[in-house]
Amino acid sequence: MEGLDAIVVGGGLAGLAAAYTLAREGLGVILFERGDHPGSKNVTGGRLYLDPVKPLLDGLWKEAPLERQVTKERITAMTEDSSVTFEFSSERLKGHSYTILRSPFDRWLAEKVTQAGAFIVPQRKVTDLLMEDGRVVGVKADEEEIPASVVIIADGVLSPLGEKAGLRRPLEAGRAAVGFKEVIKLGEEEVSRRFGLRKGEGLAHLFFGAITKGIFGGGFLYTNRESISLGMVVGIGDFREEMPFEMPQVLEDFKARAEIAPLIEEGELLEYSAHIIPEGAYRLVKRLYGDGVLLAGDAAGFALNHGITVRGMDFALASGVLAARAVREAKKRGDFS
Ligand SMILES: Cc1cc2nc3c(=O)[nH]c(=O)nc-3n(C[C@H](O)[C@H](O)[C@H](O)COP(=O)(O)OP(=O)(O)OC[C@H]3O[C@@H](n4cnc5c(N)ncnc54)[C@H](O)[C@@H]3O)c2cc1C
Repeated sequence: MEGLDAIVVGGGLAGLAAAYTLAREGLGVILFERGDHPGSKNVTGGRLYLDPVKPLLDGLWKEAPLERQVTKERITAMTEDSSVTFEFSSERLKGHSYTILRSPFDRWLAEKVTQAGAFIVPQRKVTDLLMEDGRVVGVKADEEEIPASVVIIADGVLSPLGEKAGLRRPLEAGRAAVGFKEVIKLGEEEVSRRFGLRKGEGLAHLFFGAITKGIFGGGFLYTNRESISLGMVVGIGDFREEMPFEMPQVLEDFKARAEIAPLIEEGELLEYSAHIIPEGAYRLVKRLYGDGVLLAGDAAGFALNHGITVRGMDFALASGVLAARAVREAKKRGDFS
C-alpha cells in the first residue's frame, strides 16, 4: 500500500462522497467501514435536501435510489389530546428534496465509489491513527498499520478518531439527541392514498408539542415509495433518571396517538433503528483539519437539529466532497500539512 494518497474512515455519506471525489480525481484511496457494508450502521430520518449538493456531485443523481420527491409539507402542534396541522404544498417545492432509505442509498453510492476506482474495505474498524512528529501518517486497522499521505475522518457523530487527532472534544449529553425510527411498509398505492399523493410525490410531516413529554425534540413522518419512515428525536441532555418512562417509549406513545395510529394501521414493520444526533456539535470542533488529517460530516459537527428538523445528509455529502478537493490541492502542492 506504499504511495496511498488517502484513507477515508467511515462509509457514511461523508466518507463515500470523499472517496468518490478522490477516486474521480485519480487519487489512490481506501475507505474503511466497520459495518458489514456502507449503510448497514447508518440511520437517518429520511429527507435529503438534494439541491445544495447536486452541483458538487454532478451527474450522479439520475440513477440514484431516491424514494419520493417532497411536494408537500405538514407541521402538527400537539397537546395531550388535540392537535392542529398546517399544510403547505407548492410547485416550488419540486426537485428540492427527496426521501431516501439509507441502506439502498448508501449501497448504491458505495457501488459508484468502487466504479470510480476507490477500494472499500467493509467489516474493518480503524482503531487508531498513526502519528509521526505530530503528523497523521496513516491508520491502524485490526493491528495492521496502513500509511497514507492524508486521512479523512468521517466516523460519525461520536468521532473518537477526531478526538485522537486533537481536532475536537468529546460529545456531551447536552449537545446530543437520540433518534428512534421505524420503517413501516404500506405498499405504494396505499402510501399515495393515505397521504393524498400522486405517484412519485412525497410528504414531509413534522410534529412537536406534548409528544416529547417536556423534552426538547419532535416527531417526523416521511413517505417513501412503498413505506413510511416514522420517528422521534429527543434531547439526551433534558432526560432525567426520575422521569417515569424510558426514552424509546416516546415513539410507542407517538404511534398510539389518534393522529398517527390510522396512518400506520396494518403496516408491516421493516426496520427499527436508533442513533445519536449532534446538536450544535460544531462548537466541539476546534479545527476541521490538522497535519495530514481532515474531518467531514457529523464528525465535523455538520448537522442541524432543531428538534423537529434534522438535517445533516447534505452537509455530510458536501463536506466529504470539499475535504477531498482540499486533499487534491494539497497533493498538487506536495504539502499535506
Ligand atoms: C433519527 C435521525 C434522523 C435524521 N434525519 C435526517 C433527515 O431527515 N435529513 C438529513 O439531512 N439528515 C438527517 N439526519 C442526520 C444525518 O443522518 C447525518 O447527519 C448523516 O447521516 C451523517 O453522515 P456521516 O457520513 O457524517 O456519518 P454516518 O452516517 O454516521 O457514517 C459514519 C460511518 O463511519 C463508520 N465508522 C465509525 N467509526 C469507524 C471506524 N473506527 N472504522 C471504520 N468505520 C467507522 C460507521 O459505521 C458509519 O458507517 C438524521 C439523523 C438521525 C439519527
